[in-house]
Amino acid sequence: MKNMRLALFPGSFDPFTMGHLDVLKSALKLFDKVVVAVGYNSSKGGLFSPEARVEMIKKAIGDLERVEVDSYTGLTVDYCRQIGAVCIIRGLRTTTDFELESVIAQANRKMAPEISSIFIPAGHEYSFISSTVVRDVLMNGGDAKCFLPPGIDINDYIHK
Ligand code: ADP
Repeated sequence: MKNMRLALFPGSFDPFTMGHLDVLKSALKLFDKVVVAVGYNSSKGGLFSPEARVEMIKKAIGDLERVEVDSYTGLTVDYCRQIGAVCIIRGLRTTTDFELESVIAQANRKMAPEISSIFIPAGHEYSFISSTVVRDVLMNGGDAKCFLPPGIDINDYIHK
């Protein structure tokens, strides 16, 4: 598509939650296409492997159109340039998120002035959901289904 507006929704997605899916759906109203990409930092580790996270996101988006799923290492702005994204999407739940995100957005803007950041507020029903809470629930043997997109069986991904 000519002049297609592509946005990147980057994150750890360890794992991808209902909150992330909600942000993605909002971003699709603003952009022609959204790439959801697992930003992987080997020193950060994580509960799920980057491959399992990508697989889980693909399953979570189901038949949503205009979405691609990928993973990357290195700077988010470098990856944006590589894929031709004009914007970085981030979700905001709290003022703490805003404080952290605005610092990252300023740094990205300094490095790549042609790329904008857009913050999408969490839907009120999802604003308490975080990957950290989901990991805590899972590690303590709880059922995290209500935090995850429909159709996701976490056991399919946990040891991949
Ligand atoms: P990161 O480690 O890069 O912050 P996360 O996977 O934790 O990655 O989050 C990715 C993005 O999604 C972040 O902008 C985060 O603020 C946002 N986010 C996480 N959970 C929610 C939620 N429940 N509602 C809206 N945005 C969310």
